[in-house]
Amino acid sequence: MSFHHAWLDDVRPNPYADQLALGFRLLRFVRPLEREYRAHMREDGFDLKRIALSVGMVIWLAFAGLDSFLIQTQPLWWMLAVRLGVLLLLLACGGLMLQRRHTQLLVPLSLTCIGALGLGSAAVVAIAHTVDPNYPYEGVLLVCMAAYFLVGLRLSEALASSLVLLLAYVGFELLAGLPIPRLVNNVLFLLFGNLMGALGCYLLEFKSREHFLVSRLMRVLAERDSLTGLHNRRSFNRQLERLWRQAQRESQPLALLLCDIDHFKAYNDRYGHQAGDNVLQRVGTVFSEAARRPFDMSVRLGGEEFAVLLYDITEEQARQRAEILRAALEHLDIRHERSDTASMVTMSIGVACLRPADGGEIAKLYEHADRALYEAKAFGRNQVVA
Ligand code: GH3
Ligand code: MG
Ligand code: MG
Repeated sequence: MSFHHAWLDDVRPNPYADQLALGFRLLRFVRPLEREYRAHMREDGFDLKRIALSVGMVIWLAFAGLDSFLIQTQPLWWMLAVRLGVLLLLLACGGLMLQRRHTQLLVPLSLTCIGALGLGSAAVVAIAHTVDPNYPYEGVLLVCMAAYFLVGLRLSEALASSLVLLLAYVGFELLAGLPIPRLVNNVLFLLFGNLMGALGCYLLEFKSREHFLVSRLMRVLAERDSLTGLHNRRSFNRQLERLWRQAQRESQPLALLLCDIDHFKAYNDRYGHQAGDNVLQRVGTVFSEAARRPFDMSVRLGGEEFAVLLYDITEEQARQRAEILRAALEHLDIRHERSDTASMVTMSIGVACLRPADGGEIAKLYEHADRALYEAKAFGRNQVVA
């Protein structure tokens, strides 16, 4: 199985696209992605695990009823004791799982539940076989199937727990004295059942991983500008609204730096559109370094216009940050023979700083920055106006 579409090459380098192109037949991503995938599965699998646990407990209790019907001699009490012990363990795990705080414990708890159900069912079957070799052993297979398909385990986890279960089953049956031909028959049946379960689980996990990569990639593509890798206008608008509300709550100021490259049309005319794109990419790296704090954001608004959104900053600090940006581009010293302003590519920056808690609207921030940018252009370009 592979996932290779020509369009993937257009969006690389990108960690999700790279992993899709590289493949993941062994069901493993590169380390940071693997961590991200597992965290996502923990969040995503919470409801599934709760449902699986409830279903498991109901079936477990139903089989206790069947036991009392099939076995009427003394071993029944041992069987019911095992069932009760497992049920109590499931209840304890369920209690911990329901507290969403313990997401780190979700996988260990699931493995504990599956382990308890597996060992419990193997023990119950073996006890029953001491008096009735016809007692159905297929309950053991049901637990394996739950591990592969119901609990949301990864293939490696499901395989490991099923293997432990099978070994325990063989051990218990040998102790119980089940005739060997019968044991061989049962084990073969369980092995083939597990083979199918593992194959199905492999396909499911493969598809789940592929879906994870594609959906994350789509999110990046929807939020990022393809030329510079910076956030795009849509992503910026969403972040601006979010930060505006946060700044209102926390009574913090918010600054917007609106930036426009000077004489860029002339640059394209002189050096060609491709060279212009290369400049935009280099400008993009300058901007990506301008937003390092968690709430700050650099964005390519479109064309040769960029912006930086800064949280919790004074007007003077914002002006200084703008000046650093302007100087950084000047420092790149990209030749521009047709510029009336300087011998290199430069930009003009308009700065606005507002405290949303003082009233006013989100559009004001943009208007102020836009007016400041207009003035920076009018005063001769390659400068910052606040
Ligand atoms: P000013 O100093 O007044 O800002 O002059 P300007 O030429 O930069 O301004 P104007 O808005 O008239 O021109 C912007 C130019 O940016 C027009 C277009 O050729 C160029 N441009 C916009 N988007 C892209 C792009 O994605 N790639 C390239 N290479 N050029 C672009
Ligand atoms: Mg422009
Ligand atoms: Mg311009």
